[in-house]
Amino acid sequence: MSTVPITKILFLDVDGVLNRWRGRQALTQPIPGNVAPWYIELNLVELINWALSQMPDVMVVVSSTWRLHVGDADEFSSRTRIDRWKIHEDWTTDRDLKFDDQRKAEIEDWLSRHPEITRYAVLDDLDLGFSGAVHVRTDETVGLTYDELRRVLNILRYRLKEGCVVIPMKKERI
Ligand SMILES: [Mg+2]
Repeated sequence: MSTVPITKILFLDVDGVLNRWRGRQALTQPIPGNVAPWYIELNLVELINWALSQMPDVMVVVSSTWRLHVGDADEFSSRTRIDRWKIHEDWTTDRDLKFDDQRKAEIEDWLSRHPEITRYAVLDDLDLGFSGAVHVRTDETVGLTYDELRRVLNILRYRLKEGCVVIPMKKERI
């Protein structure tokens, strides 16, 4: 278990990020032992897991509606293959709010309960209405790309919760 204080959060959507939504039965591979619609593209998960492993102060909070269909963080991890140790102990946004048009409010609600968080990024294929550049929107027909992942990491490294950009003292690379 890491002893690094967790000050940064990646709010993670699943469908359209970790899989390709349209025609996904043809495009994606099921997790062995699971049944539809639990489809995840493992190469996209590996991209996320690799990036998270580079940032010890970042953890994932699940903002996807997948949070309504799994019992706990252990099950979410086993179904998606997101590394369990990178999922925050308060692992989802509010599970009573269930509509995509509330997702921004759900994320802001979670942040209001965690003042220790100084930076966050949102990875989602929907237009969530964030005014600041904290949201990286994927193409639901493509899923997460390397370029989008780089943008997420730059947000987590350099952008404060209030929307101010921190000028890096030295160039960092992923
Ligand atoms: Mg989605």
